[in-house]
Amino acid sequence: MSRRVMTVYGTRPEAIKVAPVVRALEKHSELESVTVVTGQHREMLDQVNAIFGITPDHDLDVFAHGQTLNGLMAKVFGRLDPVLVDEQPDAVLVQGDTSTVAAASIAAFYRGIPVVHLEAGLRSGDIHSPFPEEANRRLTSQVTALHLAPTPTSRENLLREATDPGTVVVTGNTVIDALLHTVEQDIPFTDDRLARLEKEGRPLLLVTTHRRESWGGAMEGVGRALGRLAAAYPDTTVVLPAHRNPIVREAILPHVKSYENVLVTEPMAYGEFTRLMALATVVLTDSGGVQEEAPSLGKPVLVMRENTERPEAVDAGTVRLIGTDEERVVEEVSRLFDVESAHRAMANAVNPYGDGKAAARSVAAIAATFGLGERLPDFGS
Ligand code: UDP
Repeated sequence: MSRRVMTVYGTRPEAIKVAPVVRALEKHSELESVTVVTGQHREMLDQVNAIFGITPDHDLDVFAHGQTLNGLMAKVFGRLDPVLVDEQPDAVLVQGDTSTVAAASIAAFYRGIPVVHLEAGLRSGDIHSPFPEEANRRLTSQVTALHLAPTPTSRENLLREATDPGTVVVTGNTVIDALLHTVEQDIPFTDDRLARLEKEGRPLLLVTTHRRESWGGAMEGVGRALGRLAAAYPDTTVVLPAHRNPIVREAILPHVKSYENVLVTEPMAYGEFTRLMALATVVLTDSGGVQEEAPSLGKPVLVMRENTERPEAVDAGTVRLIGTDEERVVEEVSRLFDVESAHRAMANAVNPYGDGKAAARSVAAIAATFGLGERLPDFGS
């Protein structure tokens, strides 16, 4: 009798990171994969499922404009519970640190279903930043039966919190599996402006920003910094795939709209976004996933946050934490454009987050909990 593993996910970054695991579960002869999307992000989620050829079995469709975190949590609890009862999974897999993850893991725990946490053990050390993600992942760790930690550092974080070492496996981050799979497909740009940019080969500053704790004044400052950079570097194109959230758009776009060398796009399909990262001269971001992907493409990454739960690439020298202060953003980006040695020092391809085999390690570890085969050696061991 095959064991059923239900994967519950809701946002674009979760979809990207669970996709290699869902595909590996589907291929396993003694495991059955059931997928549930909450739809916490809507179109951005559907886009990723399409790239990886995943058709969700259940869609809880919780998305609503402007809903509160509590409203969102309540919907996930309410709509997931009957699915857990109907499907009777042997394990529930969640990824990362969104509200979907916190609600789904607690809902599974309340139903007595073992929780598998992918990308377990990341810690910024500040419960308020990133908000609410740091709290979400700590809550999930408390009810998790199998922790799939991406790096030895994340394993250490869990052990420091007295987690049973026998329940922690170091897998590498599946974001690298997804990236390698996608880059291999060599997906062309559908946006003519980007295709032209690729031909011209001009310097490119790639920017993404969406973090909740930067909403308001800090994000306005980032918008002003981007306008100043566009004016100071007219030969450089600033490409900004703008997050769907109107709070983000209203803070940034008014400051950049008058510059011809700022190219604002809709959120990009994952394949095209990875192509754009590979073209970038400098990446300026507050994204978690981008912090993991860009170093493996040899791109200098400036992170607009005060802290990070991803210290590995900072230690390797390819990621630098710069916060959101307008002056500092202008200064740090300018330095990488003006000082070749500064750029060179950060532009080393490093892969502290994975080797492309994280999904295989994850599925082997899940199967081993059912007595089906052995775990694989840890990533980085
Ligand atoms: N990404 C994408 N299209 C975009 C911007 C980002 O596909 O226009 C991908 C990116 O490669 C990374 C993930 O989305 O894998 C990061 O998502 P996001 O920044 O929304 O979330 P975070 O990683 O901060 O949780």
